[in-house]
Amino acid sequence: MASVSYEHIYKRFSGDVIAVNDLTLDVQDKEFMVFVGPSGCGKSTSLRLLAGLEEISEGVIKIGDRIVNDVPPKDRDIAMVFQSYALYPHMSVYDNMAFGLKLRKMPKSEIDDKVKDAAETLGISSLLDRKPKALSGGQRQRVAVGRAIVRHPQVFLLDEPLSNLDAKLRVETRANLSRLHQQLETTFIYVTHDQVEAMTMATRIAVLKDGILQQVASPQMLYDHPDNVFVAGFIGSPSMNFFDATLVEQPDTGKMVVDSGSFRLEIPAHQTSDLQPYKGQQIIFGIRPEDIHSAELTPPGVIPARLSATVDVTELMGNEIFVYGLTGSKPFIARVDPRTQVRPGDDIEFNVNMANMHIFDPKTELGIL
Ligand code: ATP
Repeated sequence: MASVSYEHIYKRFSGDVIAVNDLTLDVQDKEFMVFVGPSGCGKSTSLRLLAGLEEISEGVIKIGDRIVNDVPPKDRDIAMVFQSYALYPHMSVYDNMAFGLKLRKMPKSEIDDKVKDAAETLGISSLLDRKPKALSGGQRQRVAVGRAIVRHPQVFLLDEPLSNLDAKLRVETRANLSRLHQQLETTFIYVTHDQVEAMTMATRIAVLKDGILQQVASPQMLYDHPDNVFVAGFIGSPSMNFFDATLVEQPDTGKMVVDSGSFRLEIPAHQTSDLQPYKGQQIIFGIRPEDIHSAELTPPGVIPARLSATVDVTELMGNEIFVYGLTGSKPFIARVDPRTQVRPGDDIEFNVNMANMHIFDPKTELGIL
């Protein structure tokens, strides 16, 4: 069990690639921290720097109070599960799990206890004599996790451990990993490009883009209060809708509206004072698909702000309908009540829940509210 801190970490590769650019981040003891971001954002490199598999170009990494920049990987008291699992094909499951402990010259009986304990925890006790090729993808994944947990590391590192599993197994394994984290009470740092994995498992999520940390916060906080356009668009599925618009004060009422050219939506009264400095200015207006309701079936409590649109495509999901609409020529997605009568080509009215709107500065792309 230990905390981890990255202090102004840089990783430069030859050819001027800055894979990690001034990363400063504290991971608390026993936290489940997820590094998420698109391909190439530097999340694997950040993990590999902590594991000691890459050399740090600049900055300090600490595990607990110990600076580990020059500590060899095997002495960092961490264990890593790789995307490929990296199991030894010629060894049984038992030997794969025992291997690291044998190298450390642990007594046989102690190894036996630890391997059997871990196998029990992971539900793979009946597979201990098999070779990896005789296992399913999900079983191999559990062996890879087992090989890491037998070592009782201070920090557990997982790099895209679910990406080789099919969709159903990924969902099951997600829950198993969350359970394991609770049982082991160890610090987990987990890398994924999948924001659903991040949202479902993390105690906090660090969002990275182009080697730069964008925001670190709890899943709900990231969802409700994204700091910038990138985080807002990356977290949530389908993604937040964005519209170029102007903030306009209505001369007759003094109320503030978001004017996109094709719609005018009134800003809730309690937010108008915060937006005064942006009056008359260009903004980016963001609204999540679940905050656009069909006018005929709007949940109680949503103060109606009307948006007219033409329906392009509909997707029935059972518990909701995804409506791909066009307002003016601008496309957007709404998640509406499944009882809504809606067909492609229809002109229909939507209600936007302005209480959940997001406003960003178009120059900096930072959130204004
Ligand atoms: P992915 O999800 O595709 O694995 P990632 O977010 O984990 O992406 P990294 O693997 O950390 O990204 O890579 C970050 C950047 O560093 C990328 O631009 C990548 O091409 C570059 N990079 C990584 N390893 C090396 C290397 N050994 N030599 C040169 N460039 C590298």
